[in-house]
Amino acid sequence: MKNLFALIAFAVGFSMNAQAGYWQQHADYMMAIDVDVENFTYSGEQSLAYTNNSPDTLQRVFYHLYYNAFKPGSGLEAASRNAYSDKRNMSKNLLSLEKDDWGDVKILSLKQDGVLIKYATKETILEVALATPLLPGKSTTLDMSFFVKVPSLVRRAGKNNSDGVAFSMAQWYPKLCEYDDQGWHANPYLGREFYGVWGDFDVTISIDKDYTVAASGYLQSPEKIGHGYAVLDPDVVHGEKISWRFIAPGVHDFSWAADPEYIHDVVPIKDGPMMHFFYKNEGPYLKSWKEFQPYAVEFLTFFSNNIGKYPYKQYSVIMAGDGGMEYAMCTFITGSGYSDYRRLLGVTSHEIAHTWFQFLLATNESKHAWMDEGFTSYIDDVALNAALNLNKTVPNDGAYKGYLRWVSSGLEEPLTTHADRFKFNQGYGASSYDKGSVFLSQLGYIIGEENLSKTLRFYFKKWAFKHPRPYDFIRCAELVSGLELDWYLMDWAQTTKQIDYQVNSIIGEGSSTKIVLKRGRQMPMPIDLLVVFKDGSSQLFNIPLTMMRGNKPLGKAVLLDSWSWAQPFYVFDLSVEKENIQEVVIDPLGFTADVNRKNNRL
Ligand SMILES: [Zn+2]
Repeated sequence: MKNLFALIAFAVGFSMNAQAGYWQQHADYMMAIDVDVENFTYSGEQSLAYTNNSPDTLQRVFYHLYYNAFKPGSGLEAASRNAYSDKRNMSKNLLSLEKDDWGDVKILSLKQDGVLIKYATKETILEVALATPLLPGKSTTLDMSFFVKVPSLVRRAGKNNSDGVAFSMAQWYPKLCEYDDQGWHANPYLGREFYGVWGDFDVTISIDKDYTVAASGYLQSPEKIGHGYAVLDPDVVHGEKISWRFIAPGVHDFSWAADPEYIHDVVPIKDGPMMHFFYKNEGPYLKSWKEFQPYAVEFLTFFSNNIGKYPYKQYSVIMAGDGGMEYAMCTFITGSGYSDYRRLLGVTSHEIAHTWFQFLLATNESKHAWMDEGFTSYIDDVALNAALNLNKTVPNDGAYKGYLRWVSSGLEEPLTTHADRFKFNQGYGASSYDKGSVFLSQLGYIIGEENLSKTLRFYFKKWAFKHPRPYDFIRCAELVSGLELDWYLMDWAQTTKQIDYQVNSIIGEGSSTKIVLKRGRQMPMPIDLLVVFKDGSSQLFNIPLTMMRGNKPLGKAVLLDSWSWAQPFYVFDLSVEKENIQEVVIDPLGFTADVNRKNNRL
């Protein structure tokens, strides 16, 4: 099915060789599982064709066994118990689980090219010693038998979620860890982000005939299945179980959910994918899950237009999991808590936006959670602003508030912190979501709105399907804007330096006036400066940073001399009498996350 992957690649217009020296691993999964819906278990066979495109010889490989986290004493339980946070403490839930409700993944056998090989289960990671080292450019086939006990839903995946959905199956199979130019990423599962290998998935799920299955991937022979996918072939008589075969080409993950009470709606999008909605056939959901469907279509179309075209033929919104979580070609969203469709919109817009950053660009979320959560939060606020006609000047104003609140706590950690190792849950949220979102809107202030839009589209075109890193993104912004921007990435993402620019003084000198600005804290920023005159007129000025080596498109603004970061003060003359000046304002629209806005005007 590599051809399928190549087609997808072609469809979004990238070439695998666009970046010299770039490589990535490739993993094609063929899986078949047999589900016992009474006991919430399944046995499975997995055949994994793994291609080593790296220049390195691999002696070992690693798999994630996520469900081993869902039991007392696991790393997830300990991390949660020791977290400096009272919210979302999974430890209590994990400790109170009956043994029957613990999760478990057992590897029954593992062969490399037909030869049994050694492995060791270290909780959520399977360590495998290859019998034959995998040379650069070579492929190997790993055949595995496994048995899984589905845990109670504590976080994201499991059985019987709060809406009563039977199976919320995310991260449900032994999943190969990613190996890239920074080596293996065999992160134990501590409850946060993911990273996976691109490839083709061919998954067959045998399950009780009454269950409707929603999944990543295209259902094969839908006329033999029915369940809302197609009109059932009248010649087909289902036995006790139905085998559902899904093919998902060019993805780095595969999720599914199943329930005997799912309603399944299909909504086609013009020039876009078929949108599938799966939700429980129960009172309050029936209305809200119908009413929000046109908005879900609008969001997907909005992101397709503003980032890059969604390249698959299908996208599913599935009632499953807890809260909202993004997966390949689908999202899991809970119904309870969102019985009003307007409340559903925020989470839907966010989860669909994730498709571009978590799924299609597929940054290593564990290392760079902000490039996923932050970028997603930014564009989802922009989409909501448009869809609901909110007319906000700063669509992600909530992110500024969240970031500034956390800064004032004095507990901020840099964005470079590993997602699992933030000291505070709140810190992870304020950093990854809020500071990450502000990263983009503030970049728009630095390089101009139009350049920000171009940067997002260029970034997607250049880096979709390639696990981009922070420098890959900022280079896109540099190439689009022609400005030097590494200072912005470094100081915003790698440090906790703060922004505080001030109008220090306005000094009248006869027919002219000196305006003195001051940089109060360490973080550099160019300046948009508005001077309002007593007669009601005004003039916008732009002061670039010298180290930007240029300026953003000016519009109606007047360009002033650049400001060298090392100089704490900046002075310029205005040939106007001081008495004629009403007010001088730094960043009048509020796009910089200035820690003290009070001194921005005088
Ligand atoms: Zn998110």
